[in-house]
Amino acid sequence: MDHEFTRRLLGWYRAGHRDLPWRATRDPYAIWISEVMLQQTRASVVAGYYTRFLERFPAVHALAAAPEQDLLHAWSGLGYYRRARQLHEAARRIVERSAFPATYESLRGLPGIGEYTAAAIASIAFGQPHAAVDGNVLRVLSRLDNNPADILSTAGKAALTRRANELLDANDPGAFNQAMMELGATVCLPRQPLCLLCPAASLCRARAAGTAGQLPVKLARATRRREERVVFIVQRGGALLLRQRPADAQRLAGLWELPESADLPRVPPGRELGRFKHAITVTDFEYAVHAAAVRGTPNGFEWIPLDRLPSIPLTTVSRKALQLLEEDLG
Ligand code: SF4
Repeated sequence: MDHEFTRRLLGWYRAGHRDLPWRATRDPYAIWISEVMLQQTRASVVAGYYTRFLERFPAVHALAAAPEQDLLHAWSGLGYYRRARQLHEAARRIVERSAFPATYESLRGLPGIGEYTAAAIASIAFGQPHAAVDGNVLRVLSRLDNNPADILSTAGKAALTRRANELLDANDPGAFNQAMMELGATVCLPRQPLCLLCPAASLCRARAAGTAGQLPVKLARATRRREERVVFIVQRGGALLLRQRPADAQRLAGLWELPESADLPRVPPGRELGRFKHAITVTDFEYAVHAAAVRGTPNGFEWIPLDRLPSIPLTTVSRKALQLLEEDLG
């Protein structure tokens, strides 16, 4: 199946692809410029910028020697100016070396050149067998194999990149990479893949399973929650109100902690001593520390003499709160 896929893909690509200006060159400098521009911007928009940029900076020496303001002016409208500055820095380093880096590894060491860009330049300009895997290509690969790997995870991306390298045509890796990008950008579209126009339709497992619309899998990154809480410092006669967490508690078992407002709902917060942040798993807490006074001894709590504090294990939240008490006293 692999060989057949690659054969059909290349046949489809050679039979007619979009006429984009950077497709006509094997000049590594020009390919590099186009790939950096394409990182965040659509090909149809990049086309005009690319042509004008190369007229103004036709070779890496011209780019390296240009004042930064000229470069930023030529880039203006493309956004992501950090890319332009990295391009400039990389151009200077290339000129210092006196030759354009001709291997994936040497390209990879330059500012702003990640795995994808290094693979694209190495394969298209120098014929090196490295699969260039961007979001479009990940989508094609996951659908082709009906592979539920999470493309936002390092492991999922690595597995699909290995797969791309298995499929890669070693005789013309540059054409293979461009064909994969073209398939992803024009046929294997994110929402509604145009399977009827796809050269791989009869080989595609997601199409056969009817799952193309659900692939690739992008598991939502755990979104962090924010929560505000109030912790009380209640003192009486040289002792502090604390409780020990149960020995079988799921978290922080056996540690001692200060009361929070939720533990003493009828107690009004007194003077604020300060605030601190505390993050656990997916929650960012902001604690306000208040002095407070209680009648009697609330259920489950004990009065612990202040001089015993150094010898008992406290939760981090309680330690941070007591730090504020100390600063307040100091
Ligand atoms: S058949 Fe459809 S889902 Fe499968 S690779 Fe082609 S366009 Fe994508």
